[in-house]
Amino acid sequence: MANYGMAFDYELCIDCHACEVACKEENGIALGMDHRRLWIEKEGNTKNDFWNIDKNSVFFMQMQCQNCVKPLCLEACPRKAIYIDENGIVRIHEEKCDLFLYCMEACPYDARYINDKYKHHFTDKCIFCADTRLARGETTTACQITCPAKLRYFGDLNDEKSEIVQMLEKRDFFVLKENAGTIPKLFYLVPKDKDFANKTIKMGTKIHTWKEMKTKVCSS
Ligand code: SF4
Ligand code: SF4
Repeated sequence: MANYGMAFDYELCIDCHACEVACKEENGIALGMDHRRLWIEKEGNTKNDFWNIDKNSVFFMQMQCQNCVKPLCLEACPRKAIYIDENGIVRIHEEKCDLFLYCMEACPYDARYINDKYKHHFTDKCIFCADTRLARGETTTACQITCPAKLRYFGDLNDEKSEIVQMLEKRDFFVLKENAGTIPKLFYLVPKDKDFANKTIKMGTKIHTWKEMKTKVCSS
């Protein structure tokens, strides 16, 4: 089976939120609901308003569940409701969730929210369109196919020929909150523009190559 992950060429993001709208449409989430499945974080000089952004001091990060190899949400759940499926996607047995919310507290990425769409509420997050697009046999996620900048790479990390692995073999990358020990499967590509890279990558961030990272991500 597959081992899905996603990479972002975040240097190209124009903050259009097309990905977010597509995600909400795919998953039946109302527009305007923030921090549901995916969101865009504006970093740097964020004091300016939308029409007055200083392009040299603001950048945009694509945020969503990292579908970790070692998910802290899973470890924290007393009901053992959270599991990793055959495609390496962190899922939940919805009916087992009793909203203790230990998973939400444990997640270092603030990726979970309470899904109150149905009678039985449960904690939810990005599952790479597993129940919608992937279940229909499609190979893309709604956010990836919609992004006009084509900066999202999604695919099977176990498949050397997949677009995402080919990209990770070409470009160095970093992950978020590496010290949390979750081994995230979202990869942020080091910008080609060296000035932009210097401005946007935090001091002390470890830069990875796929050669050394793949043993961690693909071994389990
Ligand atoms: Fe769990 Fe958070 Fe990792 Fe997603 S990012 S798998 S919610 S610990
Ligand atoms: Fe950024 Fe692409 Fe999302 Fe637009 S659709 S906000 S360019 S990631």
